[in-house]
Amino acid sequence: MPEATLLTAQSGLDGRDRGLVWHPYAPLNGPAPYAVSAASGVRLSLTSPDGSAAEVLDAMASWWCAVHGYRNPALDAAAHRQIDDFSHVMFGGLTHEPAVALAERLVAMAPGPMAHVFFADSGSVSVEVALKLALQYQAATGSPARQRFLTIRGGYHGDTFAAMSVCDPVDGMHAAFPGVLAPHVFAPRPPIATLAVDEAGERWIVDEDDQARWETEFRALADRHAAELAAVVVEPVLQGAGGMRPYSPRCLRVMREVADEHGLLLIADEIATGFGRTGRLFGCEWAEVAPDVMCVGKALTGGYLTLAAVLMTARVGAAITGSRFGALLHGPTFMANPLACAVASASLDLLAQSWRTDVARVGAGLRQGLAAARALDSVQEVRTVGAVGVIQLDRAVDVPAVTAAAVRNGVWVRPFRDLVYAMPPYICTQDEVATICAGMVAAVREAHG
Ligand code: PMP
Repeated sequence: MPEATLLTAQSGLDGRDRGLVWHPYAPLNGPAPYAVSAASGVRLSLTSPDGSAAEVLDAMASWWCAVHGYRNPALDAAAHRQIDDFSHVMFGGLTHEPAVALAERLVAMAPGPMAHVFFADSGSVSVEVALKLALQYQAATGSPARQRFLTIRGGYHGDTFAAMSVCDPVDGMHAAFPGVLAPHVFAPRPPIATLAVDEAGERWIVDEDDQARWETEFRALADRHAAELAAVVVEPVLQGAGGMRPYSPRCLRVMREVADEHGLLLIADEIATGFGRTGRLFGCEWAEVAPDVMCVGKALTGGYLTLAAVLMTARVGAAITGSRFGALLHGPTFMANPLACAVASASLDLLAQSWRTDVARVGAGLRQGLAAARALDSVQEVRTVGAVGVIQLDRAVDVPAVTAAAVRNGVWVRPFRDLVYAMPPYICTQDEVATICAGMVAAVREAHG
């Protein structure tokens, strides 16, 4: 047993954790978690609940974040440099190089002409800020009654209250908080689309009748509710936590048109899709659509620290500046945390070097490696978009069984509902992606047949 693993096992981390520390969406007495003693490159060193040690490839990139892997030398160095300067100062009345430099970069790389940046401390908070901003924008431009949001079913935008209110009304947490979440307007889910990639290039394939029907319904819903709507809120081209489900960029273009027609803002939640994950730097680029407001987070710091940002156009900024408040009414304690901003800039440097070839390599590996899952009895569908690979079962995943089987096969996955999926770090080699795929397929076969 490596020394670190021995220490973890000896200190009984698992037993100390259970009943004391909540884990995401998990009961206090739920399945025992795996203990991490080290993370380096694309590998995690784990102690399983049964006490055995394992080194696994991280297929999850810590939920879309760790695109450059763990203990990345450039990100470690950026963090150390900034710690030696200062780790945090308040942002009220103060500014600093890491924040301004990062804002300049974000604005320069955004799809469309973004002019201003508001830093928040998590993806959910950035969505809160974006929604608040849309309400302030409408009030400032003479439409204070526009207080609802138009979105699509199957979405996920975070766990704070306003963010929850625009998550899918059935699969989201609406049922858990009856009467508390604001009732927004939900259009049908766009039809699922396939991103085909071959010698001829990339193209989105969708059932034309379903697509036409969706467009008609979306436009009709917007027409009906226009006077009360502030903005359209959407995850561009790929709905993540709501089902890992891709849809045609044409839907985004329709949303842009509808927003323009009715004076709504288009808010792109690029928290999961941003920074190359779908094969474009931002999901909006598939549709050549420029949003009015864009949220980014997750991979922004390469998974090192929690940071998110809300980008907006000059028009939106000007309206809020000219409003009776003059300001965007938000100001988190850890706004623009210098340590997080410094690491984020270093992460964007790394991204700029090779994200396109990296994402193409990982994506090709996922397409090739996951294809074998199609032959399994329990598998309903296999799909990939960019560097995301999804095995959808015909039943709910037995999460502890699939997780344990994947770990035995040298891979860390965190399935949910009927999905076993991967969004590996961009630095994975072809062989590592092949091992991830083989591990996922073996895990599904062992647990479900
Ligand atoms: N929006 C999307 C599309 C997300 O995937 C997530 C995180 N899963 C969020 C918002 C919320 O981000 P956070 O967990 O950082 O609050």
